[in-house]
Amino acid sequence: MKTVDVVYNTKKKKGDKQYGVLFNNGKVRKRREWRGLKDTLYDFTRWIYLWSIVIDVTMSKGAIKGLFRYRWMANYLAVPHAMDKFTMGQRDETLRISHTAMDFVVKDVALCIKNALRGDRRCGNDTKFSDICVLTDENAMTVEMMGFPMLKAILREIPTMFSANIMTQYSTTHYLDVAQQFGIPGDVCPMPEAEAGISIEDDFPVLGKCAVQVNTTCDGSLMGNGIIAKRLEREYGIPTFQLAAPMRHEAPDVLDYAAEDMKRCIAWIEEKMGVKWDWDAYFEAIKRVNATTRKRWEWLEVNSTPYPQFFGAIFSLFNDTDYMGNCGRSPDFPAIEDKIMKLVHQGYKNKTMMAPEYRHRCIVWGVQPQYCIDQLYWMVNCWGVVPLTDMLSMVTDKQFCEENKPENYEQAYKDMAYLNMNMIMRNKTHGGYEVLVDELWEHVEKMNADMVMMWEHMSCKALTGMHGMFEDQARERGIHIVWVSHDLCDPRVFTRQAIRDEFSEYMRTVMREEPLDPTLEFMPDEHAW
Ligand code: SF4
Repeated sequence: MKTVDVVYNTKKKKGDKQYGVLFNNGKVRKRREWRGLKDTLYDFTRWIYLWSIVIDVTMSKGAIKGLFRYRWMANYLAVPHAMDKFTMGQRDETLRISHTAMDFVVKDVALCIKNALRGDRRCGNDTKFSDICVLTDENAMTVEMMGFPMLKAILREIPTMFSANIMTQYSTTHYLDVAQQFGIPGDVCPMPEAEAGISIEDDFPVLGKCAVQVNTTCDGSLMGNGIIAKRLEREYGIPTFQLAAPMRHEAPDVLDYAAEDMKRCIAWIEEKMGVKWDWDAYFEAIKRVNATTRKRWEWLEVNSTPYPQFFGAIFSLFNDTDYMGNCGRSPDFPAIEDKIMKLVHQGYKNKTMMAPEYRHRCIVWGVQPQYCIDQLYWMVNCWGVVPLTDMLSMVTDKQFCEENKPENYEQAYKDMAYLNMNMIMRNKTHGGYEVLVDELWEHVEKMNADMVMMWEHMSCKALTGMHGMFEDQARERGIHIVWVSHDLCDPRVFTRQAIRDEFSEYMRTVMREEPLDPTLEFMPDEHAW
């Protein structure tokens, strides 16, 4: 089997060294993590900052009404505490990287909630604002909005499902029950199923002049989109465009068709909203996308060394927000990326680590349940296994055409179509064997990994079919492959402890290792935010 050198932390770790002792079955921890004076103070100021965001949203137009009208709203009161799951064991640069990235993600989601409630017919009812809003799909790149700086893209399912579930793992269970009572089978992926349940229960902000749905990510989201579109169109009179992204996105012959559909979608938005596509804005946005890709590859390069810096759930959530929710449209992201870059270089120079030792270098593959559990930082602190990168963060490595010339417009439509087809998650779960299986081994090689942690999402049919191939090929290559089951945002199927147990069992029985921090092996955190 392949082995890697163990890397030891040469810096004396300040403050707590055992983290399991912080949990006591309650919603909040027994106490906050002690990280030494400087880092505890820094962490505390960020905690206060997050509260200021919560208060700002609560004071915004329509928010109080929304708090009483929508079941998912109350989850956001947990934002400052929920952040703690992403900073376990972190000090110095890694702590600052996590806060810089995640605090910005929180700010971005807060803006989405504020906008949604402001225009919502049931809460803020700002009709003038609602008239410049286009509802977009949460599970998609927002490419079709890159040339409409005068409009607001409202990622409809972000406040109701996606980020609410990151705050509280049980936030979707009610909606899953609603969907199943409606007749949708229980083995559908809980992400689109919960989104459908929210629509069935009519528990979403109603705003916007039109909506765009995309068949990303899979048949599950296709099912959910049908139900959602029916309610939007028939009950609320919001016309909905179905943007069809071909599944075999690596096949060259699908690009022309996808580009034509993108063109139709943009023309449709122009017609419904009464505005014109702005090529200047598009090319500015695509330049930012290209710059983001270059920076992401630089972060990954640092992660391929013995001292990785920017990794774990926050790496993935930041990439999600940057590529999908933003897609180059906001000029605020580059400054944050630059700040992270500075910290990454500084952390690498200072050999900053999250745990006393790094024993294994791991690629995380499959669709991850970072909503209910923070497995990745747990792996580092409990077993010294470093998640160098994850499947959702391997979005694209292409650089797209940046020159604003009429002869480049056809290429630009193709680039938008390519980005749309290669949305995070579906660019690996669909597109064939090469992107899902072959690419994994390329990353293992490039990042000098000796282990793969394979998320087995029970309801994701796209991935379960390849189980045997992964097993055989890992054996041939001498790579340890650890299968860990979960059911994404339904924590009733696999609890946090059940998920951890699967990993620990492998580490004990196959690797014959003992945990770095034994207090983390069994933790009473089932109810914790
Ligand atoms: S996890 Fe799998 S089943 Fe669920 S939305 Fe993604 S691709 Fe579809």
